[in-house]
Amino acid sequence: MHGIPHHPDLPLEREGEQSGVLLLRDIDADDVAALLARYGLHLQRVEDGAPIPGSYWGESEAGLIGTTVYARGDTPLHSLLHEACHLIVLPPERRAAVHTDATDSVEEEDAVCVLQALLGDLIPGVGAARILADMDAWGYTFRLGSAAAYFDRDAADAWAWLRRARLVDPLERTPLLPDEPHLRHS
Ligand SMILES: [Zn+2]
Repeated sequence: MHGIPHHPDLPLEREGEQSGVLLLRDIDADDVAALLARYGLHLQRVEDGAPIPGSYWGESEAGLIGTTVYARGDTPLHSLLHEACHLIVLPPERRAAVHTDATDSVEEEDAVCVLQALLGDLIPGVGAARILADMDAWGYTFRLGSAAAYFDRDAADAWAWLRRARLVDPLERTPLLPDEPHLRHS
């Protein structure tokens, strides 16, 4: 256990759009939807100003209900990927039961933080480095001082966890996409 709160649940000041993080509306949402679809997940867009279903943190943060990830144009991409990764790390039979709060353990939370950055590499114009920088900007805290330092040097348990789940290639440091989302874990 790292004993460090990674989750963006800290009561830190949020400056929303002024924090400069990448928002869903800044990129092509179809690219994100296509990526999520590879994992058997559905991206549901929410109208500007409407409440986001299943959003644990409220405001603009992404929501989860079953295998659907809800996001608005002003939802930070890192938040969307974080919540999506909570579903991705779960076996399909457990995804259906998810509503709003998917966190299972510190180990799972750590794995999610690493995987969300990796998925940034799979979205055109984003990249893992941008996701890690946005996590810092949003108020995630890491023992080594930054998300990138955690990712590079302090996340051995998370890499091992993700490898066991067959979600990453730890040598290449790339995510492993399921060929057939519906067949994964079967
Ligand atoms: Zn989380």
